[in-house]
Amino acid sequence: MPTADNCAGDTFESAKLTKQEASFAARAEQAIVWPNVFKFTLFHCLALYALTWVPTASWEMLLFSASLWWWSGLGITAGAHRLWSHKSFKAHFPLRVFLMLLNSMAFQGDIFEWARDHRTHHKGSETDADPHNATRGFWYSHCGWIFYRKHRDVYVAGKKIDVRDLVNDPVVMWQQQYYFPSVFLMCYGVPTLGGYFLGSAWHGFWLGGMFRHVWVLHMTWCVNSFAHLFGDRPYDPKINPAENLFVSICAIGEGWHNYHHRYPHDYAASELGIGSGTWNPTKLFIDVCVILGLAYDRRRSHYYKVKHIYGTDDAKHQTKQQQEVGKAPFVTEAKTAQQTQEPSQQSAGETSSFER
Ligand SMILES: [Zn+2]
Ligand SMILES: [Zn+2]
Repeated sequence: MPTADNCAGDTFESAKLTKQEASFAARAEQAIVWPNVFKFTLFHCLALYALTWVPTASWEMLLFSASLWWWSGLGITAGAHRLWSHKSFKAHFPLRVFLMLLNSMAFQGDIFEWARDHRTHHKGSETDADPHNATRGFWYSHCGWIFYRKHRDVYVAGKKIDVRDLVNDPVVMWQQQYYFPSVFLMCYGVPTLGGYFLGSAWHGFWLGGMFRHVWVLHMTWCVNSFAHLFGDRPYDPKINPAENLFVSICAIGEGWHNYHHRYPHDYAASELGIGSGTWNPTKLFIDVCVILGLAYDRRRSHYYKVKHIYGTDDAKHQTKQQQEVGKAPFVTEAKTAQQTQEPSQQSAGETSSFER
């Protein structure tokens, strides 16, 4: 049986299988990861039980727990996604530490693993090399993918992803080394402590910890399912990812997915922001961080610059002078596209916070 390491290239050609047959054969070999089935079933049972604590919770407790949805969500959206996966802005050390801690609160796998898999997702979107390939259906893209071994094409693609920037970030490496202690502290300890100061540590643990963790998991998964299947596609009609307000509300601004897949290195992950009719609290958070001096070098798409800075819808109308202006402080799409194609010198490891 082919292994993940020997399946690069056209292993199946000798067996005279069509590409589609080979794809289905490889899918059939994806064994179920029973530890994940057990863990995530347990998480969901505990989250359902946590709801029994709602009737006796104070308004302050409910608001505190709901606020952790946003805070832990930012650890994914502003942190693992826009900062570490796409390098769409730069952050000084204190902000990177803060976002790393929020990321541990979200408990969705460490930053290194999350960013590597997300880069793989963008590179092979809607193919077998996509970890949560939406062409395999809603439930596979939402959470089903977690219960299966990765498709061989995902392994192969993951090894080609350039992760040197992640390896060279001590904050990312520290989190990977101390991931579970950091999760224990941030995902469960902080909510319990907050609950204690609001009158009931147990309410904080169950609502701000157990329930909020599973809730934010689903909010993130909505990006992979809903936003890859439902919505408008004004920026690139030829791709699956779509503009979806529901997902943007769920995932604090990550639902403008047609724009994001078309311009993945744009820090806003949408054309517009709050105040212009686009619900995107993560963009607002990054903008505030820039004002506070914690972040810098926000990158915007070529499309955005031509339309909003130069005042024309047509990139062809951009003059040479405008192109020069556009070089700083942003990076052009052409350059960012080139950067994403660079092969890795240090291939991605196979370590995983959740076994896969
Ligand atoms: Zn996507
Ligand atoms: Zn992305």
